[in-house]
Formats: sequence, structure tokens, C-alpha cells
Amino acid sequence: MPELPEVEVTRLSIAKGISGAVIQSVTVGKPLRWPLGCPPEGLIGRTITAVRRRGKYLLLDLDGGLLLIHLGMSGSLRLGQSLEARGPHDHFEMETTLGTLRLRDPRRFGAVVWARDEGAEEAKKLLGSLGVEPLSDLFTVDGLFAGLRASRAPVKQVLLSGKVVVGVGNIYASEVLFLAGIRPTVKSSTIGLARVRRLHVAIREVLARAVERGGSTLRDFASADGSEGHFQLEAHVYGRHNEACRACGSPVRMIRQGQRSTYYCIRCQKA
Ligand code: ZN
Repeated sequence: MPELPEVEVTRLSIAKGISGAVIQSVTVGKPLRWPLGCPPEGLIGRTITAVRRRGKYLLLDLDGGLLLIHLGMSGSLRLGQSLEARGPHDHFEMETTLGTLRLRDPRRFGAVVWARDEGAEEAKKLLGSLGVEPLSDLFTVDGLFAGLRASRAPVKQVLLSGKVVVGVGNIYASEVLFLAGIRPTVKSSTIGLARVRRLHVAIREVLARAVERGGSTLRDFASADGSEGHFQLEAHVYGRHNEACRACGSPVRMIRQGQRSTYYCIRCQKA
């Protein structure tokens, strides 16, 4: 599943190329997770002025409205001058004066949604409950501490919910908790300030590094210019059930939390 780093890498790979492009035609394939919310022809003639990101949403600013793009479970976005012929999994495409922007999404959990602005109902529904951006200055130790303090749920679940901080998806949650030495099952509200500080550093470092390396959590993920990421090769615990912990040699454990796999080391993450 594309996570925040993949979405940020996608943003970086298309932002320069598409800014200033005028939309010339729009082709919509099979239904995605949510409807577009405007007639496709309504986008024609509009200029894409910027590409931003909020959580896992890409925000394409238009001169009049914006498009919110979510890559769902299996989506990828490509921008090119001469893409190959449209395939059965290409469900949204815009021809622009600066190339074709195409969303390929075999499982169709992704979406492209039009909104008048970020304050519009349809945008608030998607963006309204998102926590702070982990790579922004708004993400502070105090804010993280207060957010974790407020919940009695296991810390992994609180991180995954995205309500305190966005972008810590399933793989990254196991990784950052390992780096912070915190057991994923521990009650969120009981974590002291010193460990929250370590967690804050770990979240920033892991996500920033993943963006830097072109992050990949999906095997066939490719950024919009076709180059591939390789974050998965470096996981400390994720996907390493029964393999030796890279720090202490104990076998890495796997448990299920909320139907998702969690990996941790019982020696390095005592509580
Ligand atoms: Zn260990």
C-alpha cells in the first residue's frame, strides 16, 4: 500500500513537471472508491497551479478548485509525454499541455475527488480528521506526548489511526516503535516523555529517510518517473518474523493488532 513517503515521492516527481499545465481532456475509467464529484469536462481548460500533499492525499491546485488524489491500496500516478496505450487498470487520465497524468489502480481503492476548496464539505470529509504532518514544524514532542496521553489504546493503534500524526502506516509503525524501544502493545497514555522524545525522532528519521530513498512499501511501487524505491530492504523488524533482531539477535516476534501484522523484539522493546 502506498504510504506517506511514496505519496511524497510521487508528489516530488510530478510537481515540477505538471505545474502550469492546462487540462485538455479527462478520461474516467471504472468507478474508483469515491466519485469525482464534478463532470469530467468541467476540468477542461483549468490550469494546475501546484501539487501539495496532506497525509496520503495529493492536492492538485487548479485555478478554480482542487483535485484530491488518493492512491488507495495499489494506485500509482504517472506523468509523461508519450505514455503507452491506456490499459484495463488505468481509471483516470488527464491530458495536459505538459503531458499525460494517469492513475493506474488495479484494486480501485484509490480516488480522484474534486472540491471547490479545502474548506468545502467534500474536502473536509477526507482531510478534516488528519493529524499533524510528521515532517513539518507542527509536529512537536509536546504535541505527540499530549496526543498519546489522551488514549488508552495500544500505541501502535494510536499511531496507525493517523489522528495524532499522519503517515505512520503499518510498516513504519513497527519500525519507529522498534527504534524508540517501545513495545507496540503498550497503553499509549503510559508512555513517558523520554520515550516519546525518542519516538518523535524515530518517526521523523524513518519517514524522511524513506522519502529520500524514494520509499517503497509496495513491491511494484514506482514513482511517477519510473524509478523504484527500496525502503523495504532495510527494515529492522517489519517482515522479519523469527529472524534475528539486528540489535540483539533475539528472534523477531509477529503478532496481530487490529487485523494488521506487528513486528517487534521482546528484548529491545520491553515495555
Ligand atoms: Zn532486539
